[in-house]
This record gives sequence, structure tokens and C-alpha cells, in this order.
Amino acid sequence: MNLMNLAPRCLAKTRRATLCQSPAIRGKKRCRLHGGAKGSGAPKGNQNALKHGEYSAKTKANEKRRQRRFLKRLRESPKENVFFLSGRHWII
Ligand SMILES: [Zn+2]
Repeated sequence: MNLMNLAPRCLAKTRRATLCQSPAIRGKKRCRLHGGAKGSGAPKGNQNALKHGEYSAKTKANEKRRQRRFLKRLRESPKENVFFLSGRHWII
């Protein structure tokens, strides 16, 4: 039997729901594609797990930026130009 075939196998689940079974990186439990190597593995902000993005870092950052901009405009605008309509804020 070839020595290469005795190497520990990667147990990562593939998109086909099967085991990867590629040789694992020495000292690791996963192959070079599945987290064995630096920078490998699932991408940051996994799009496959995304349902609606409501709580994604990107959405939160956008919302925070929007609120900061709103508060800045609120501070800078005269009071009589600010209207509050059913919880939403409108600046005219
Ligand atoms: Zn693998």
C-alpha cells in the first residue's frame, strides 16, 4: 500500500455533503482547502448562511453610519426644521 494513502484524511463536509477525504495538512485535521492552510476555509461573511442580511456587519455598519449622519444633521439644523413622523425622522 502506498504510504501517501495512509495520511490522515480531511473530514470537512463538502457542498455535496460528502467528506472531503483529501490528505490533511501535517499536524492538522483538515486539508489545505478546508482550514489546514492559512487563509483557507470558508470565506468571511459566509454568503451561503445569509438569510436576509438584516444583522450582517455590513448592514449594521450602514445603519450606524446613517444614524450618525442623521444625528449630525439634527444637531446642526434649527429645531423648527425637524419633524418626527411615526418613529421615523424627517429633516426638511
Ligand atoms: Zn478538505
